[in-house]
Amino acid sequence: MKDFDYIIIGGGCAGLSLAYELEIHSKLKNKTLAIIEPRHEYKRDKTWSFWKTVPHNFEDCLKKSWKNFSINLPNKTKHLECNNYPYQSIDSGLFYEKINNKLKENKNINFFKNTEEINLENSFIFNSVPDLKNSKNGLWQHFCGVEIETKNNFFDDEIINLMDFDCEQRKSLHFFYTLPFTKNKALVETTWLSSMDDISEKDYDNQIKEYIENHLNLKDYKINYIEQGAIPLFYTENKNQKNKINIGTAGGMTRLSTGYTFLNIQEHSKFIRENFENITKTKEFKIEKKYQFLDKIFLRVIKKNPKIMPDIFFKMFSSSSNTVIRFLSNKSNILEDLSIILKMPKWTFIKALFKN
Ligand SMILES: Cc1cc2nc3c(=O)[nH]c(=O)nc-3n(C[C@H](O)[C@H](O)[C@H](O)COP(=O)(O)OP(=O)(O)OC[C@H]3O[C@@H](n4cnc5c(N)ncnc54)[C@H](O)[C@@H]3O)c2cc1C
Repeated sequence: MKDFDYIIIGGGCAGLSLAYELEIHSKLKNKTLAIIEPRHEYKRDKTWSFWKTVPHNFEDCLKKSWKNFSINLPNKTKHLECNNYPYQSIDSGLFYEKINNKLKENKNINFFKNTEEINLENSFIFNSVPDLKNSKNGLWQHFCGVEIETKNNFFDDEIINLMDFDCEQRKSLHFFYTLPFTKNKALVETTWLSSMDDISEKDYDNQIKEYIENHLNLKDYKINYIEQGAIPLFYTENKNQKNKINIGTAGGMTRLSTGYTFLNIQEHSKFIRENFENITKTKEFKIEKKYQFLDKIFLRVIKKNPKIMPDIFFKMFSSSSNTVIRFLSNKSNILEDLSIILKMPKWTFIKALFKN
């Protein structure tokens, strides 16, 4: 069995982002790297979106970038600008292609389907496979999105609808998310925040059809692409070890109140690259403790009182959009944190602080 200096387990977003970051900064010169990835082919399977609060390596993989977004309740809409932090969507198909083309140039990087094909003993490991064995009670963000195409122009492609709560709520929090890539193409996504055991929420096809045809009033369209997924809104069981660092979802890179992970993965990759020569002695890279604490309370409120959440999100966005974006992207200062906290209903959050 072959030995490698480094092994990346899982060639998805985090595994490939890290390999790319190391390769373009020549950190793999005279080093060997194995990437373990079971999938048989790379194709578009996700649309990664985020407010661009830090630079990243994938501007050329963008589907689109917007400077306006809206939040919608049944009887009111808020229009907001994000000139300083454009909202960007990355096409995972372009991302995989770009990275794999680059990695192919280095003969010391090899892909394998399975860890049993190589020797894990003497290598430093970056693992992106989440350990979900204790995930029973956790909250998930689960969703299904379709990219639809219309014959005639239909969408305003200058503005995304970040959260449309004007839809059926059932027992948990539900909203629609619409990203208009052009005037006749958009990703329309139904999103739920709930535990995964309620399968009655998974009639995604019906929800999407009903929303497009009766809410958007669009009858003539075709579906070009479907994506479906679930993001754990809790930390997985993965623990770092002397010769192993967890990355991606497994490495705690998801912001638990929002599910946003992509940019945190990019920042983590950069951190590993900057500390690569000293990686065994470097402190863990984590989402700041204050966000972990505030998100924990926020998620308790979502779990206990999903009905009040649309109003809470709406109120949150009455702070300046820059403040909210920085807060949701882990970039806020204490005054900005306070401005968000003061928008929350005090008693509901104080109760959630003391009662699990
Ligand atoms: C459909 C979808 C849309 C999302 N959209 C957004 C978004 O808009 N914005 C955002 O910030 N975040 C988003 N996320 C969350 C997060 O960014 C993604 O989940 C991201 O892909 C996480 O990267 P990762 O490397 O941790 O996991 P993955 O990208 O899932 O990579 C893990 C890899 O491990 C491989 N693997 C699995 N089992 C094994 C095994 N036993 N051995 C070896 N390899 C294995 C898998 O095949 C996969 O390639 C989304 C998630 C999903 C599922």
